[in-house]
Amino acid sequence: MKDLNNKITIAVDGFAACGKSTLAKALAKELGYIYIDSGAMYRAVTLYFLDNSVDINNSESVALALKNISIAFKNIAGQNHTFLNGLDVEKEIRAMRVSDFVSPVSTISSVRRFLVACQKEMGNQKGIVMDGRDIGTVVFPDAELKLFMTASQEVRTKRRLLELESKGIFEYSYDQIQNNLSERDRIDSTRADSPLRKAEDAIVVDNSDLSTDQQLELALSLANQIIEKKSIREKVNG
Ligand code: C5P
Repeated sequence: MKDLNNKITIAVDGFAACGKSTLAKALAKELGYIYIDSGAMYRAVTLYFLDNSVDINNSESVALALKNISIAFKNIAGQNHTFLNGLDVEKEIRAMRVSDFVSPVSTISSVRRFLVACQKEMGNQKGIVMDGRDIGTVVFPDAELKLFMTASQEVRTKRRLLELESKGIFEYSYDQIQNNLSERDRIDSTRADSPLRKAEDAIVVDNSDLSTDQQLELALSLANQIIEKKSIREKVNG
């Protein structure tokens, strides 16, 4: 199953806090694939804009800022860490000031072009699981497996609270988080450039009542079926 020639691309999209990253990370680990959290990249750009007072209504300032941004990921003690210009910003990019500003920043076409180009480059060898909002529609429209995750508002808010707490962030209330999630979903689904939507060939996974193990089992079985078919096809074609 881990033969290099049989590697596929897996896109995981959906609304905020639907458990996309938990599933995508576990799936990548099981398959021996790279995992990329594309939302962390939009968050890192947002953090840079905030820290450097970049006016998002001024296209020249945005273009200049993008030239000075470099984003990388490193695994530290089993956790994915986002680096912005060489600095570990994993905690800063989860703060509410970034969460409140990331969706407006993500509507800017030049920001999307910049990040989509980086994301395509990261996936050019296949063997990648990427989660986000436009992965199955724009970044990897040819992905062999596309999942579109949904879950109830309540489940999502509780999950995000727990996720923040696991990163040592305790200062936000349930209501603050719920408001942020619904406002981001609204902006993400209605923006003009690559709005959040289900790709036609994506499989919907409502995980409100699924444990993380059950979701992983489902996704893994879908991925393995595709990998198997690919490997048979390759053998037949010589
Ligand atoms: O995945 P996460 O919730 O951390 O993403 C933060 C924000 O980044 C989203 O609300 C959305 O505005 C933006 N985003 C995007 N396209 C992606 C991933 C994230 O516009 N592929």
